[in-house]
Amino acid sequence: MKSLLAPYACDPDKSQGRRFAQAPAPTRTEYQRDRDRIVHSTAFRRLVYKTQVFLNHEGDLFRTRLTHSLEVAQLGRSMARSLHLNEDLVEAIALAHDLGHTPFGHAGQDALNDCMRPFGGFEHNLQSLRVVDHLEERYPEFDGLNLTFETREGILKHCSRRHAEQLEMDEPNGVGRRFLVHQQPSLEAQLCNLADEIAYNAHDIDDGVRSGLITLAQLQDVALFDDHLQQTLADHPRLQDKHQGRRLLYESIRRMLSSQVYDVITATDVALAEAAPADVEAVRQGVPLVWFGEAMRVKSGALKSFLLQWLYRHPQVMQTTGQAKQVVRDLFAVYVGAPPEMPESHQRRIEQGPQRASEADTDFVTFKSRVVADYIAGMTDRFAAKEHQRLTGLSFLSEGNA
Ligand code: MG
Repeated sequence: MKSLLAPYACDPDKSQGRRFAQAPAPTRTEYQRDRDRIVHSTAFRRLVYKTQVFLNHEGDLFRTRLTHSLEVAQLGRSMARSLHLNEDLVEAIALAHDLGHTPFGHAGQDALNDCMRPFGGFEHNLQSLRVVDHLEERYPEFDGLNLTFETREGILKHCSRRHAEQLEMDEPNGVGRRFLVHQQPSLEAQLCNLADEIAYNAHDIDDGVRSGLITLAQLQDVALFDDHLQQTLADHPRLQDKHQGRRLLYESIRRMLSSQVYDVITATDVALAEAAPADVEAVRQGVPLVWFGEAMRVKSGALKSFLLQWLYRHPQVMQTTGQAKQVVRDLFAVYVGAPPEMPESHQRRIEQGPQRASEADTDFVTFKSRVVADYIAGMTDRFAAKEHQRLTGLSFLSEGNA
């Protein structure tokens, strides 16, 4: 297996290691071990009840953060194998990349960011890192999952300069550094970003059509989809018959996914051959190398714009968005005013106060607000709605009431 790795792939035997040294596992590589820790984490299990675009109770067949993460892992691994990159690392990053997401998708994140604005803001990428570094409580000797540098590097996809400086205070030359010196992450991390994009563009078409918010007719304006729709119809004219159900949609999406995957592999192979990075360090010091070819980049951008205009901003989606924001704002206000409404472990964190160097100058209200944000961010959609009902008596976004 190892012999198939390219020289610029991440090699688990040359990992920059874990923050707390641990003996190697007898049968698993360090990245396989990271993946297993992620799958067994509490935050990972919660992804099943967290929204991607549609609220969890709107239908059983829509994507949740869990199924999204599995799709990203599948696409990422498949591309990694062709490019001779490390599949296990790609899988670990993909499964962890959304762990920091709030309930109610982007609406939840925006509302929590608004609440936290006076206290340093809220950002889901950074929160995913907080989950695996600090918030999971599973090991006797340390907080978090103690993952390898490379998995953590991939999880932290974006980071503001201020947050990077804070990370650097707690972990000199750690995962915050590349945002200060403008370096790239590993190719495996770069690949995950693209797999994420390919996955949500495809499954949001599926979910959007299923929900009735967008139609196949509308999608004929989107070249990336329509090319494959027309080709599918040419190959299988009987799929026009409505008794064929969703086969036309699925076959068009399947072809669209394959074309994007092959495009990334081809374009990246060319870029890698040209740049010929000697090792992972050369990758980090170079330019991004995993990307679509130019034509596909333009088409993928057009699909994204379509989804933004016709799905993410659809009045029906926007209506639940408004309620979701209200739930998060109300929860934040209640817990900050009355921390005993939170479970004891969160109250204890407030009492213990700052533990890390970057938090040393943090005032009490700021620290308390961060603990509240951590608690709310960890909630599933339905738990947040239930808590909101318990604390305010208002029935927002509870089952059957969207
Ligand atoms: Mg994602």
